[in-house]
Amino acid sequence: MSKIWEKLFYRKCNHENVATTANLSYCPDCGKLIKINWYVIRCKCCNKKRIGLIRNDIVYPIARYCTNCGSNEFFTEKIDKLTYFDINYAVAKKEVEEDLQVINKTQIWVDDKDIEEIILRLKLLPQFF
Ligand SMILES: [Zn+2]
Ligand SMILES: [Zn+2]
Repeated sequence: MSKIWEKLFYRKCNHENVATTANLSYCPDCGKLIKINWYVIRCKCCNKKRIGLIRNDIVYPIARYCTNCGSNEFFTEKIDKLTYFDINYAVAKKEVEEDLQVINKTQIWVDDKDIEEIILRLKLLPQFF
């Protein structure tokens, strides 16, 4: 099958049939593992939350300007869990899990508790000698 036909018949899947209520599920249309990530848009100037929208995988605010300070600059913030306070603002983004794994590999995760434990062990060690 030629590239052109492939493009016509196999359009990029938007995973429309994946429910946003499921945190992690397989897309019925393309079979990929999809993770629901929530994003909140905030004003870069005053930090106020702005109502977001998603189109073509891009998260952006519905209104062009912030109603609080008039700025049109904004940033997106990923939230771990959708809370009551964010329900009117948050945007669900359906992301393929394999893509996320690549991102996760580049991040270094250090748990503060782990460091505390290491320090504690180091302090305790000489007592055994
Ligand atoms: Zn899909
Ligand atoms: Zn603002």
